[in-house]
Amino acid sequence: MKADTILVIGANGQIGTALLPRLQTLYGEGAVIATDLRLPARQTGRFEILDATDAKGLAELVRRHGITQIYHLAAVLSAKGEADPLWAWNLNMQTLLNVLEVSRTEGVKKVFIPSSIAAFGEHAPQTDTPQNAYLDPATVYGISKAAGENWGQYYVKRYGLDVRSLRYPGIISYEALPGGGTTDYAVAIFHEAVQGRNYECFLAENTRLPMMYMDDALRATLELMEAPAGQLTVRTSYNLAGFSFTPAELTTAIRHHFPDFSVTYKPDFRQAIAESWPRSIDDSVARQDWGWKPAYDLNRMTYEMIANLTAVYGRTDKVVETFKV
Ligand code: NAD
Repeated sequence: MKADTILVIGANGQIGTALLPRLQTLYGEGAVIATDLRLPARQTGRFEILDATDAKGLAELVRRHGITQIYHLAAVLSAKGEADPLWAWNLNMQTLLNVLEVSRTEGVKKVFIPSSIAAFGEHAPQTDTPQNAYLDPATVYGISKAAGENWGQYYVKRYGLDVRSLRYPGIISYEALPGGGTTDYAVAIFHEAVQGRNYECFLAENTRLPMMYMDDALRATLELMEAPAGQLTVRTSYNLAGFSFTPAELTTAIRHHFPDFSVTYKPDFRQAIAESWPRSIDDSVARQDWGWKPAYDLNRMTYEMIANLTAVYGRTDKVVETFKV
């Protein structure tokens, strides 16, 4: 068991829900402190309520538990952020700066701050977007991620704080529903298909976006956090790729399992966001620096999602309620 005390901020979200058990296995259940604005639907291990905009409350918690690593997952995501841009900016930046500052002042050893493909905008090549492509994001979420990456690098260079970051693509998982992003359709579609319903997609059928199965995203996160610091040449945020697909291609993959499943298309404001993002990502620097390699492709992810959600919806207990879209 590794000797660290881990703080997870925003632990009830899509990524936190899946990451917690992995961290508990690695570090021991007692060494992982999960926090969020509200109690989770199902709690395993140690949990405390924490609003990460509250710098004093965060610092008190970090001191009280002797925290040595922070995973900062709290954020307002791309689609949700567009409904109230100043609120999204304030929340994303204030929580990030609180995390970086408390880490510096309280001697936290390592910090993980996720970025996103949303940090890219219209002046980045959309195919195989390179690591050092220009960042001119179209959403307030993307602006907060681009700024956040640079703040992370600033704390590395100025204070020697060990901040690490990944530009996640859209993440697909069955454990918890996504929190208001532009790639959420790729999760919602499975919930409908598995329940025998058709799906109305908010993106157009040929909108290609980079995606990743949760299992790969978690492995990438933990591998990056374990990598020797001297191997890391990127201190803004690493490009990370799984696979790319369109809603039409995902529908075809799902139809292998449910031949009668069908999708209609009604693009909304999220279409413009999707069109400002890369279609595929060049993650060769992550591969070189810390050996990143994804394990899932479209068909393997589709099989896993259907198998796991079939088990979830097959249950008659309360768990099913928490997965309703
Ligand atoms: P999510 O929206 O599912 O979860 C975020 C969690 O943060 C929620 O449980 C929410 O209650 C909590 N939170 C919000 N404000 C808070 C505050 N002030 N204090 C404490 N907690 C607060 O998000 P997620 O999908 O789990 O994403 C985690 C991180 O990964 C975010 O930084 C997100 O931008 C990034 N990311 C996610 C994806 C994806 O596809 N899920 C893709 C790219 C980047």
